[in-house]
Amino acid sequence: MNKATALVIGGGPSGLMAAEVLSQSPDLQVNVYDAMPSLGRKFLMAGKSGLNLTHSEALDQFVARYGNGEVARWVYDFSPNALREWAQRLGVKTFVGTSGKIFPVEMKASPLLRAWLKRLDAAGVAVRARYRWNGKLSRRENQWEVEFETPDGIQSAQGEVVILALGGGSWRKLGSDGAWTSWLEKADVKVEALRPANCGFDVSWSDFFKEKFEGQPVKSVVLSFGDFARRGEFVITKNGAEGNLIYAASAPLRDEIERAGKATATLDLAPDWTEAQVLARLSAPRGSRSTAKHLEKTLGLKGVKVGLLREFAPESFADAARLAAAVKRLPFLLNAPRPLDEAISSAGGVSLDELDENLMLKKMAGVFCVGEMLNWEAPTGGYLLTACFASGRRAGFGAQKYLTRISHSSS
Ligand SMILES: Cc1cc2nc3c(=O)[nH]c(=O)nc-3n(C[C@H](O)[C@H](O)[C@H](O)COP(=O)(O)OP(=O)(O)OC[C@H]3O[C@@H](n4cnc5c(N)ncnc54)[C@H](O)[C@@H]3O)c2cc1C
Repeated sequence: MNKATALVIGGGPSGLMAAEVLSQSPDLQVNVYDAMPSLGRKFLMAGKSGLNLTHSEALDQFVARYGNGEVARWVYDFSPNALREWAQRLGVKTFVGTSGKIFPVEMKASPLLRAWLKRLDAAGVAVRARYRWNGKLSRRENQWEVEFETPDGIQSAQGEVVILALGGGSWRKLGSDGAWTSWLEKADVKVEALRPANCGFDVSWSDFFKEKFEGQPVKSVVLSFGDFARRGEFVITKNGAEGNLIYAASAPLRDEIERAGKATATLDLAPDWTEAQVLARLSAPRGSRSTAKHLEKTLGLKGVKVGLLREFAPESFADAARLAAAVKRLPFLLNAPRPLDEAISSAGGVSLDELDENLMLKKMAGVFCVGEMLNWEAPTGGYLLTACFASGRRAGFGAQKYLTRISHSSS
């Protein structure tokens, strides 16, 4: 009997997970294609500053981070614990960091990726690097034909199922360039525009502030915006601000900028004190001290934090009550999200309404979509990778079921 074939296009975490599940079907040949010279480049980049695979919080709390019941379903089926066990079976031990985030003991992605590719190879999965899908996808009876641009010219491949695992649109140089959005739209698949997620923002710093504070961290402040309020830190950049605290608030800030053209968050520069306490300290006699020196002496505020006060509330320096209010509730005006290419991840993508519960396109039987190319978003903290793995797994099992169904209907 001829083996059926599965074509997995995109060799990132979601595509490889789909390939792994499919490779367990004895009657199926699984081929993975990727545009880049090697697989998993964004995954490797994610490991550069410590691969945050997943998170240790309670599962219900974990899935709530996606704000999306569909994504929650994939993750309930492949939970953070299941992901840790899976990594362990690849010889990669993980640990829970102080923040509850889970990392491989070695912190990097490369040992995991190496072991994973070896196991896929042993399971018979064929890998074709430098094969860039050019958007052509056509159906011939029970098979899909796909076209690739390769160093040897155009090549085509046929398979009963196709898994599209093409990633979002950030960090294009790592392979996921979002070119697929227009190809799928042409095929009448609804795609929400890709937008930056977990991103930095532009701020109109004065030249003086920029020159003095670019690259400096702003530590232990509370950033509030709407329902969001969290203590953390961020970094001043030439164009604005980036870092964990900013990324965490980036979805509502981005949405507000899209709606209103700008967003004003609030910074609490002295979160350990109430405004009354701040005012009491600032009201202490200051003699000939400058306001900046007085802020340092009474509240320990100096450097970039005093710089922020001067940038956003220069008028408050004239009066203790206004200065106390500014220390506790400093308006922080953000003009625009940084471009998608610089973001950690993308929001937008293939509308989940276009997919059945197995992540198969309703309009294209046998074609599945997985990972960051789907329309969901999540904060950093391991939520991105967990959902990418979980979606790949769901589509892999879904594709197996689909193959069983078509083989029965044709026999
Ligand atoms: C700097 C950085 C740090 C990160 N850190 C973390 C972290 O610590 N924890 C976390 O959870 N997440 C992190 N992420 C996010 C995470 O890496 C991604 O969400 C994840 O890699 C997405 O997986 P994917 O398989 O959907 O897509 P990708 O990993 O983007 O893979 C898509 C693949 O498809 C290929 N491809 C695209 N178009 C074509 C085409 N036309 N033909 C053939 N192949 C194509 C690409 O070459 C690529 O290999 C980080 C991201 C960045 C940029």
